[in-house]
Amino acid sequence: MLRNRKTKDRSESGPSLRENLTGLLKIMQNDPTISDELPIAKKLIAKSMRWLVLNEFFLVLQLYPVKFFIDEINHDAPNVTKLLLISFSFGVIHKISDVVNKQMALSRNTTMWRLWRIWWGYGHRVLLRLSTDWHTLNGTGEKESLVSKNILKFENMIDELMFNTIPAALRITFTTLFLLTVGWVYAILSLATMVTYALMVRKTEGVLEPLRKKSRKRMKAIERFGSELNKNWRTIKEIGREEDFSDQNDSLLLGFCEFEEKRHKTAMGQFMHQSDVVSASRMLLYALFSLSILWQQPQLGLIVLAGEWMGRSYSNFGRFADFQQRMSEGLESMRELVALMCLPPTVQQPAAPIWPSQITGRVEFKDVDFRYPDATECALTGVSFVAEPYTATALVGSSGCGKSTLMGLLQRLHDPTGGSVLVDGVGLSELDYNRYRREAISVVSQDVQLFDGTIMHNIRVSKPDATDEDVIEAARLAYADEFIVKQPNGYNTEVGENGIRLSGGQKQRIAIARALLRKPAILILDEATSALDAISQQRVQESINDLIERREVTIFIIAHRFSTIESADQVVVLDDGRLAEIGTHAELQRHNGLYARLRAMETKGLLD
Ligand code: ADP
Repeated sequence: MLRNRKTKDRSESGPSLRENLTGLLKIMQNDPTISDELPIAKKLIAKSMRWLVLNEFFLVLQLYPVKFFIDEINHDAPNVTKLLLISFSFGVIHKISDVVNKQMALSRNTTMWRLWRIWWGYGHRVLLRLSTDWHTLNGTGEKESLVSKNILKFENMIDELMFNTIPAALRITFTTLFLLTVGWVYAILSLATMVTYALMVRKTEGVLEPLRKKSRKRMKAIERFGSELNKNWRTIKEIGREEDFSDQNDSLLLGFCEFEEKRHKTAMGQFMHQSDVVSASRMLLYALFSLSILWQQPQLGLIVLAGEWMGRSYSNFGRFADFQQRMSEGLESMRELVALMCLPPTVQQPAAPIWPSQITGRVEFKDVDFRYPDATECALTGVSFVAEPYTATALVGSSGCGKSTLMGLLQRLHDPTGGSVLVDGVGLSELDYNRYRREAISVVSQDVQLFDGTIMHNIRVSKPDATDEDVIEAARLAYADEFIVKQPNGYNTEVGENGIRLSGGQKQRIAIARALLRKPAILILDEATSALDAISQQRVQESINDLIERREVTIFIIAHRFSTIESADQVVVLDDGRLAEIGTHAELQRHNGLYARLRAMETKGLLD
């Protein structure tokens, strides 16, 4: 029964620090991008720990000569040579302690920066590796908090543990050991204080940890709401609800502050109990000094030394309280980081990847089924068709019919749940996944993302070794050159955060140039619609038509406008995840089926 309860408590509190660390290390050891760093980091930590132990040893030892000095001076006939030797030992021990302290500080600095570089770099590497689904579900704010904040808290915990808590524990341990050399009764008092304090800390933790969890939950809600406000400011303004949203924010903040006040009151109460242990021990120490008169002549040196040692040791007890707080935050952060690192990738690089001698861009969808992991219904069912190299295929259908999902499968964001997608006769799951994305396929989505930097940088990002001439050529093909040269600094014009200084159509054309620069075998264009004004639409359209006419790449267009469809070699009409019709624009018009109906709806302005 008792055992069961223990197991339950344990599963509720989650894995311990050790389990988490072991799990994390295992993941990192199996990852070649980071595994080489780990032995170096371990060596650095071990080196820091050695300096730390020495540092604390010398800090306690520094006081030792005080006893001999006082006893000698109190002697009936003090020996000056002895006193001078003790004075000299003061200087020597202090100097050694100083050197050790500096070395420890240096070692700590190197270790912490190294660890920071590892966590920070690896955390972001893992983040970029996560599936598109995960990125779609988690906004920028959530990602920031998941990676950056968690890494910082984890760092703080390690820093606190290595350079505050362990030194404090070492200081108390060394004090206890040194006290043994001057009187076992003082050593016992020190040990008893240490054990009682540790038990009190455990009890305090039981009270404070649930409160901390609640506090973190409230803080997360505040951060989430704040990020919503920042994200949706335009909508809030448009519906005229600035004050309502600010009030909601205020009430969240008020609730948090009231809760924090109560939590801190409880914490202070608990910490007072902990410091009662220290006060009692201090009182007992001086009672012991007084009682020692009963069995021996009072030794002033011993009283000063033991008093000072214990006094300094007592001041270290308080350092555990900080650790409790940081440890709890760090553990929670670590759990989240480990969970993130353990997320299974939606697609895997095959064990023996294949790469044909030439990729022409022949694409075949063979009886493709697909269901999203959390969905009850299939997004695609039995879709089969072929796109010959250098042709253009337009995908048509009402919203939600499966166009983006089909193109997602061609990018291998997911693997089909049935059937297969073949490129030049090779199943996508067998192709070298990384090389496929880097060399064979380019995507221009509606929502163009630009980096903070120049236009040149934003086009070149898809092929870093491209020359300026290559970039300009790609921009010409995308009809982007004409507006770029009119910018204040031409290709060296800064685009601002996510291209704030450019129009939707300009961003689209930069994205097309970026996609073409790599000379891919397959190009997916998610045609931008409402975001573009008529003139921009026309220029984007012209660049797409030009691409189709040049016949250098297999093009798939998620078509929202029928003007694009007319120049395509074939039109694939999807209906509720199934292939409804396929043919040229003229053939489908003649067939007078779903395509003709959709077209009629567009003419009347009913198609979304
Ligand atoms: P289209 O691009 O034609 O508008 P989609 O391919 O985006 O359609 O969507 C096809 C179906 O799959 C829709 O029913 C949509 O709700 C569903 N769907 C799309 N993305 C997801 C997802 N990440 N998880 C679950 N269902 C999804």
